[in-house]
Amino acid sequence: MAGLVPGIHVFAAGVYKGVDARHKAWHDAERAAVAASPMQIALDEARAAAVRGEVPVGAVIVRAGDILARAGNRTLELRDPTAHAELLAIRAAAAALGSERLTGCDLYVTLEPCAMCAAAMSFARIRRLYYGAADPKGGAVDNGVRFFSSASCHHRPEVYGGMSESECGALLKDFFAARR
Ligand SMILES: [Zn+2]
Repeated sequence: MAGLVPGIHVFAAGVYKGVDARHKAWHDAERAAVAASPMQIALDEARAAAVRGEVPVGAVIVRAGDILARAGNRTLELRDPTAHAELLAIRAAAAALGSERLTGCDLYVTLEPCAMCAAAMSFARIRRLYYGAADPKGGAVDNGVRFFSSASCHHRPEVYGGMSESECGALLKDFFAARR
């Protein structure tokens, strides 16, 4: 066999064994592509928020490959300063699971979370946080109070910043540029 044709699965056990290392690398890449898609959904939520006149931030909560919740900012619409995308997604996921603990859940958000949302993620026992653009002014994960590193934080998710960073950041820049 000369090589794997992209996009075509080879399930025959013998063939799989023969190209094991390459096949594994290919599956890892495929899994990475699947892992990237929740951020694309979060970006869709951020764009929808911009259309509503809200600051374009979107969030998605995933467990075992299933999307449990997706939300965009609704602080203006709900007249609620706590209606950040992450908090709305956490509330929806908790309702969906019937539990205040989101064990095994991963949260994707287009912007580095603020202190309020970081604390909520800690209380919710979020497993992993993936965020897009860093927020030097309002972020509280790798900027500001660095909540997850503080002594008053008792559950720290694994944090992966900079995912689809340029796309997430451009959305915010365009939004604020258009309002000037
Ligand atoms: Zn927030």
